Amino acid sequence: MNYFTSAKPYNSLNEYYKREYGKKVAKISLNAGFTCPNRDGKKGYGGCIFCSKDLSGDFAGDKNKSLKEQFDDIKEVILKKWPDTLFIPYFQAGSNTYAPIEYLKKIFNEAILFDPKVVGISIATRGDCINHDIAKMLGDINKKIHVQVELGLQSANEKTSDYINRKMTNQEFEIAVELLRKENIEVVCHIINGLPNETIDNMLDTIRYINKLDIQGVKIHSLLILKDTILADNYKKDKFPILDLEKYVEIVCKQISILRPDIIIHRLAADGNANDLILPLWTKKKMVVMNEIDKYLRKNNIYQGKEYKK
Ligand code: SF4
Repeated sequence: MNYFTSAKPYNSLNEYYKREYGKKVAKISLNAGFTCPNRDGKKGYGGCIFCSKDLSGDFAGDKNKSLKEQFDDIKEVILKKWPDTLFIPYFQAGSNTYAPIEYLKKIFNEAILFDPKVVGISIATRGDCINHDIAKMLGDINKKIHVQVELGLQSANEKTSDYINRKMTNQEFEIAVELLRKENIEVVCHIINGLPNETIDNMLDTIRYINKLDIQGVKIHSLLILKDTILADNYKKDKFPILDLEKYVEIVCKQISILRPDIIIHRLAADGNANDLILPLWTKKKMVVMNEIDKYLRKNNIYQGKEYKK
C-alpha cells in the first residue's frame, strides 16, 4: 500500500484520518484528574523528570469542569475555525487507565456519546497501567467505536529510562502492546529525542525497537525543559547539551527514513506550554520546525521507510 498520497513523504495523521473518515478529525484534550503510579508512590515518586505540573496534559481542559464541559468548550473553538470537523475525545493528562475499572468504563463510555460527531476516543497512559481486564474493557468499547491507546516509551534505552525515572521496563511496555493488540486496539507510542546522555544511535535504536513491535502510530518530539520539573533542576546543575533545531531536524528525518512504512506519524514536533518552557526556545515555533523537516526530507529525497530493515 502506498501511504504517501499527500504532500508529505510520510504516513501522516491527517491523511490517515482522511482515509478513515473522509474528513478532518480534531482531538479534544481532556483532563480527567488522573494521577500516575510514578507520582503517588505505587511505582515511584516525583514522576518522570520531564513531566510538567499538569502531568503532561498542558493543553487539556480545565479539570475543575466536567469532562463534557471541557469537551464542549474546546469543540466550540474548533468549530469556529473548521465547521466540518469530526472529534476524538483525548484523555491526555496523567495516566488515564490508573483508576478502578468500573470508573474507567463509565467515563470512556460517556465520552463516546459526547457528540454525534465523535468517531473514537484516545487514551494516554503507561504500559504498566494496562492489564488484561482493562484491555478487555477497552476492547469492548473498540467494538462500538475506534479506540486508540497512547503509551509513553520515550526511549528504548533502559539506562535512559533509569535516568528519566520512568519506572517502567521495556518488558512491561511490550506486554501492554500485546494485551491491547489482542483486542485490536490501535497503539501509539510516544518518544522523545534529545534526552540527556542519549546519542543519535540511541534515538535511532528506539525507532528500530518500535519497528519490531505491533504498534500502529508514533509521536516524536524533542525534549522540553519546563519550569518546576526535576529536569529543570538537573539542567541548572549539569548543563547537559540541548539539541538545536538543525540537529533535531536531521535526527527526525533519519528516524523517518528507518521507520516502518505502515506506522502513522502522529507528531514530529513538540507541543509544550510556551509559558513554562525554559529550553529549547526554537520549539515554540512548531510550524517552523515542521517546515524545516519538510525541506530536509525533500532536499535529501528521504521518505518514510526508505532505509527500513526488517
Ligand atoms: S508516566 Fe506520564 S504522567 Fe506519569 S510521571 Fe511520567 S510523564 Fe508524567
